[in-house]
Amino acid sequence: MFIRTPQGRKAARLHDATMPLTGTGQALALAAARRICKSPQQETIMLERFTEPAYRAPCHANDLLLRITQGCTWNRCHFCNMSREHQFLSVTSEELEEQLRYFADAYPRNTPIWFVGANPLVLPTATLLAHIALVRRYFPDFAAITLQTRVADVLHKTLSDLQRLRAAGLSEIFLGVESGDDETLRFINKGQSAAQALAAMRKLNEAEIALAPMYIIGGGGKGTAERNAIRTAELLNQVRCKIISTTGLTVFPGAPFWAMRERGELTEMPEYEKVQELLAFVEHYTGESFLYCLHYLNPLHFTASLPRDKAEIVENLRCFLREHTPEEVEELVNRQEKASI
Ligand code: SF4
Repeated sequence: MFIRTPQGRKAARLHDATMPLTGTGQALALAAARRICKSPQQETIMLERFTEPAYRAPCHANDLLLRITQGCTWNRCHFCNMSREHQFLSVTSEELEEQLRYFADAYPRNTPIWFVGANPLVLPTATLLAHIALVRRYFPDFAAITLQTRVADVLHKTLSDLQRLRAAGLSEIFLGVESGDDETLRFINKGQSAAQALAAMRKLNEAEIALAPMYIIGGGGKGTAERNAIRTAELLNQVRCKIISTTGLTVFPGAPFWAMRERGELTEMPEYEKVQELLAFVEHYTGESFLYCLHYLNPLHFTASLPRDKAEIVENLRCFLREHTPEEVEELVNRQEKASI
């Protein structure tokens, strides 16, 4: 069982756990056109027309990253500055093949693959199937294709579309659920309701595409922890989740929340309350899933297999809250240092 603060300091003395490596969750910094960007395990080609950094989930750090889209067809979430400056583009088959040729000898034939883009599932099913077929020519035994996308993109697909994508190799989707609380969803301007998220998640379950909902701790602002936690747990209790991936709300320059905070329309949830929200979520979640809290924006970093680790996580979080003051937690998390999604 791992729990630590981002700096791995005071929490460590409470729990004699070995500390895991923390997923950075940070974008690869790609600024100039058509160049190679390397992180310890990854590189992406910056295609001529594309300007957006490549984002992927921290637990997919070793995947082959293939750019499929840039920009976001919604682009209105109040917490997000990720795609704001980037026009929506989708790769041509030539641009995809350019990437595949470059990486053909660098990755094993059975590599897992991440389709880069805020919501590539918005593309027509025929386009996605053609992309996957092209990928298979270069990586015939690829282990998995994963992407992140919006609830609306799933709802716009028929079950048959999703089943065909699953059969072709799209095996896992990180879904921007963010909250199960309609008031919070309106506050963050997610453009979806909890009922719509439930319908999308059920559809993915039915299509047997592994579901990885993303959940923002503190999304509702100060004073909303319990409501947000319980409603999100109640929502996720109704579906099969492979992974539940959390972050903590962070106000970035360029995101609407930045100006809303200046105008007094957002009071951020203190970090102590974010830990309380996480605790309430774990207490109310009754499903079977892997809870992944290693994205660097989380107030505390740990992973847990639920329900197996539930009692231990609950005890550890309670212990952490007992032994730290809100001021200490604020200092340990040091959110103002966090610069990007
Ligand atoms: S969070 Fe996702 S859906 Fe919302 S604006 Fe950002 S990229 Fe688009």
